Amino acid sequence: MKQNAGQEAPGAKKNLLNMLPSESEELLRAFAVGHGEKPFRGSQVARHLWQSPVDSFAAMSDVPVALRNLLDAHFSMPRLTLAMRQTSNDGTEKFLFRLEDGEFIETVAIPEGSRLTLCISSQAGCALQCAFCATGAMGFTRNLQMFEIAGQVREMRLLSPPKQVTNIVFMGMGEPLMNWKAVDPALTVLNSPAGLGIGARHITVSTVGVLPGIVALGERAEQFRLAISIHAPSDELRQSLMPINTKYPLASVIEAAKVFDRRVTFEYVMLGGVNDGAEQAVQLAELARECKAFVNLIPLHPGGAGNFTPSSPEHIQWFARRLRAQGIEVAVRKSRGMDIAAACGQLRVERQRRRTPVAAEQDGNIQVA
Ligand code: SAH
Repeated sequence: MKQNAGQEAPGAKKNLLNMLPSESEELLRAFAVGHGEKPFRGSQVARHLWQSPVDSFAAMSDVPVALRNLLDAHFSMPRLTLAMRQTSNDGTEKFLFRLEDGEFIETVAIPEGSRLTLCISSQAGCALQCAFCATGAMGFTRNLQMFEIAGQVREMRLLSPPKQVTNIVFMGMGEPLMNWKAVDPALTVLNSPAGLGIGARHITVSTVGVLPGIVALGERAEQFRLAISIHAPSDELRQSLMPINTKYPLASVIEAAKVFDRRVTFEYVMLGGVNDGAEQAVQLAELARECKAFVNLIPLHPGGAGNFTPSSPEHIQWFARRLRAQGIEVAVRKSRGMDIAAACGQLRVERQRRRTPVAAEQDGNIQVA
């Protein structure tokens, strides 16, 4: 069954990466004791799951060989298979990972000064079908499991040289708040010192406005950040761009943003002649003021879906000024990875279209792993 892909059959090896760090450590300490070793050996092994990951039990050089062999017989630490890696002229890197059941997901690494932001996926495909989004156009296949979400960051630490991720955004494929069952524990793995140790303020969950998920995220004690994809300031327009607006109309999204006890960011993709007029600037400012939101204006990444035209950079600046004149804090997102189709879903789409190998001169800087 697809939904259960990657879950262990009875008697199969237990996946140590598909549980919370506290659970795996407890399990490994008990396992060590059960095999005549000191409990600290279990903790030693646990450190190699997330904190200093290795690609196999055999590579745990600080653990006795006999214990490594026993671990290998009882447990697994599944890797995500790197299927493609592309580097943009601006330093943005895009990774295409193949999962155990053959599904592909994308992860994008965006360097900016001393920061390295990793844009991660939460689902294979997406059910929401936003009009401009490449992932939406491919449809929904399945939810990712916890280890497949956090595993995208783990894989960065296993590259040579390893990449040290400082920030996480759930802005890859999928709707994270429609996979809360896996995203909830994945947030713990990303943030916990016994996991990947990334500060909660450096982890942003991006959503179209899935109400129960926003409530659940707000109930977590950690200061995770919330970004809401608004994209249109009226129900009529939003409805035409985002079918989910029927289920979660603007009023409910705004209500959720208001009750979320931390500052919210509005994502607003700039679609030329569609949502970038003077009237929309007034309406958007009103909504942002109502829930004290920060507004991120996103240049449309070409190659998404639909026949949209990006607003010109000058027009985006004009729109930003109109918002600022109404007291709204605004940032214009830099478009990154333009030459490698780094917008949501684009690499996977490209891969599926490109059944025949491309000629060397067209291959650009694509590295096939
Ligand atoms: N489902 C979540 C997270 C994934 S999409 C959400 O919608 O927020 C992450 C962001 O990328 C969203 O704001 C989405 O609208 C935006 N996006 C999708 N396609 C895009 C494109 N072609 N150009 C610019 N932004 C895009």
